[in-house]
Amino acid sequence: MSKPTVAIVGRPNVGKSTIFNRIVGERVSIVEDIPGVTRDRIYSSADWLTHEFNIIDTGGIDLRDEPFLEQIRQQAEIAMDEADVIIFLVNGRDGVTVQDEQVAKILFRAKKPVILAVNKIDNPDMKPMIYDFYTLGMGEPYPISGSHGLGLGDLLDEVAKNFPTEDEGEYPDDVIKFSLIGRPNVGKSSLVNSFLGEERVIVSEVAGTTRDAVDTQYEYEDQPYVIIDTAGMRKKGKVYESTEKYSVLRALRAIERSDVVLVILNAEEGIQEQDKKIAGYAHEAGKAIIIVVNKWDAIEKDEKTMNVFTRKIREHFLFLDYAPIMFVSAISGKRVHSILETINKVNENHSRRIQSSILNEVIADAVAMNPAPSDKGQRLRLYYVTQVAVQPPTFVVFVNEPELMHFSYVRFLQNRIRESFDFEGTPLRLITRART
Ligand code: GDP
Ligand code: GDP
Repeated sequence: MSKPTVAIVGRPNVGKSTIFNRIVGERVSIVEDIPGVTRDRIYSSADWLTHEFNIIDTGGIDLRDEPFLEQIRQQAEIAMDEADVIIFLVNGRDGVTVQDEQVAKILFRAKKPVILAVNKIDNPDMKPMIYDFYTLGMGEPYPISGSHGLGLGDLLDEVAKNFPTEDEGEYPDDVIKFSLIGRPNVGKSSLVNSFLGEERVIVSEVAGTTRDAVDTQYEYEDQPYVIIDTAGMRKKGKVYESTEKYSVLRALRAIERSDVVLVILNAEEGIQEQDKKIAGYAHEAGKAIIIVVNKWDAIEKDEKTMNVFTRKIREHFLFLDYAPIMFVSAISGKRVHSILETINKVNENHSRRIQSSILNEVIADAVAMNPAPSDKGQRLRLYYVTQVAVQPPTFVVFVNEPELMHFSYVRFLQNRIRESFDFEGTPLRLITRART
């Protein structure tokens, strides 16, 4: 089920990034260990009560050199394109400004629900300041304070009420949804064309919601596929589509909706920081991942080249040691069809379930081979392991004392699980719980 998306729009300094950070809260992220990723984060998953959603701070999308009106127009358009619900943020202390009115005018065109939030209402005495904002014609204003964390619950209740009802625009379970992620010019569009050019491929238009109008559905050897966000690759030509932050955001949204993510690298250019960030996100999101090195036709090679390249990829993408690596050429079509076979395979692994009895044998053998860590005279005891979820496969290990579980031991157990079952291409999650 794809999560709804919320975007925050408003003129500068009203508190968009403050609110964004409040809503997102403390999120532990592996990608954050990669330098340069956390700073100015503008897209994240978040939750409120039972609702999970994604949130975008449109103010963080750098549209430099544009005059104010143009910037805010583009931010509002991004919100209208990407979000299911828009939070229109204003500053209660300034009253209604001309710029707020300009934003409102643009948002009137949105065919999405817009919730008006009045920020910097730091105490209850200030509440009357919100009445001014009824004149924006956006319905009831919600008083909030980003810095004090006030009013966010009521605001998010209202936001959640406006989420689309489930099942809208989704695909049947047997469909494999995949996306191609990579920097400009690595060959994403060429690869898609190469897939679609295969014999026996049936391309069908996606009917229905605008949200999915960018997807391409097709079938190969009786397996239905959807390529997520194909239009994002074809570059529709809106001004903001060329900004780096927007293309990252677009990629993150595509990852979110995919079962399998193809991380596309360009053999001619090697690996870049941006590739790692996006791949890291796919890993964190728990998606099945394949690393595809395209333009393999374009480089000089001998019998060692593939090994050298493979080693480099493994060094740079340490956390993706489970992802298969493929060397292809979109132009010659070489090995492109085998990408689909690999997609089928990693998709199956992503959904693999292991019986508890077999799983516990494997873990018992592992513990016998490499005893669990101990600390201050107490040894970690593993009582029972069970798989609680798929996509990605997730295991809960019941132990005497979770604090005794080290990262390195988790890693060891994961490796033993990988050696015993085919989980190629999928991340694994291992959760440690105290047996009660
Ligand atoms: P953005 O440009 O819309 O993303 O705004 P920021 O989140 O960067 O906030 C702009 C300024 O307003 C910062 O100095 C914040 O500390 C301040 N600010 C944000 N929320 C509140 C609030 O609820 N109350 C007060 N008093 N200040 C706030
Ligand atoms: P995108 O921006 O990632 O969608 O990349 P495109 O598919 O538009 O390709 C960018 C450029 O790389 C185009 O000039 C393609 O012709 C070229 N290209 C794509 N795939 C290959 C390939 O496998 N080999 C070679 N030599 N060139 C390629």
